[in-house]
Amino acid sequence: MNYKIFFFLFWILTPFIIYYSINLFHFNEKQIQKLSNNYNLKSKKVLLIFAHPDDECMFFGTTIQILEKNGFEIHWLCLSTGNYRNQGEKRKIELLESGTIFNIPKNKIHIYDHPQIQDGYPFNESLIAEIIENEIDSLDINFIITFDENGISNHKNHISIFNSIQKVLEHRNNNKIPGKSLLVLKLKTVSVFRKYLSFLDFFLDQLKCLFFNNKNHFSITFFSLPFQSIQAMLQHKSQLVWFRYLYVIFSRYMFLNTLELIE
Ligand SMILES: [Zn+2]
Repeated sequence: MNYKIFFFLFWILTPFIIYYSINLFHFNEKQIQKLSNNYNLKSKKVLLIFAHPDDECMFFGTTIQILEKNGFEIHWLCLSTGNYRNQGEKRKIELLESGTIFNIPKNKIHIYDHPQIQDGYPFNESLIAEIIENEIDSLDINFIITFDENGISNHKNHISIFNSIQKVLEHRNNNKIPGKSLLVLKLKTVSVFRKYLSFLDFFLDQLKCLFFNNKNHFSITFFSLPFQSIQAMLQHKSQLVWFRYLYVIFSRYMFLNTLELIE
């Protein structure tokens, strides 16, 4: 067989085979089960916090799909309008359209536009911590998902959100706020090699779990097909530069999300 046809078939068919195999073994459901066995979630409400419109589908699409399928009520907190190239107003609308693809209603998408939290400039981390506290209180949230300390792409705005969450957790621990337990999971940043292995990283991830499983360190992995995330990405028309198409083909985040506990 011509190697190009072989490569094409491999790239198209393998994710389907993985997806249907893991569904057969209820892989994603078992991950959700692991989450609820380990943590007493008061409700199935979750707040996803990110920095820019399009972070939700470029990085968190798999998590959104699996949680939505499993009955979670998902809220988005987007901390900026992505106004670096003066496209903020347009990008706000694109984010709402992306929400429609993921079945997130407009009233559950909160987009901030604060002079001290602007795309591409250093974020005011204390202010973000305050915003997060307010969201937790007004929505009665006890489960949050966000970036980790490397922010997937090392973007300083993504990392600032992680730092702000740390401030929120420290504040809560220091003040021992009663009845307000907060579970925060961070999206794991993998090495550049693994980042661009696409769906193939599923095998490395599972091998790692098998041989280097640290029982004291909570982590779950979700796998999905990327079509919903791609459709959501297509709503961000202002961002569709050529390398986004390569990203869709090669990024593991279009298929795989590994979430770890922030201690
Ligand atoms: Zn971003």
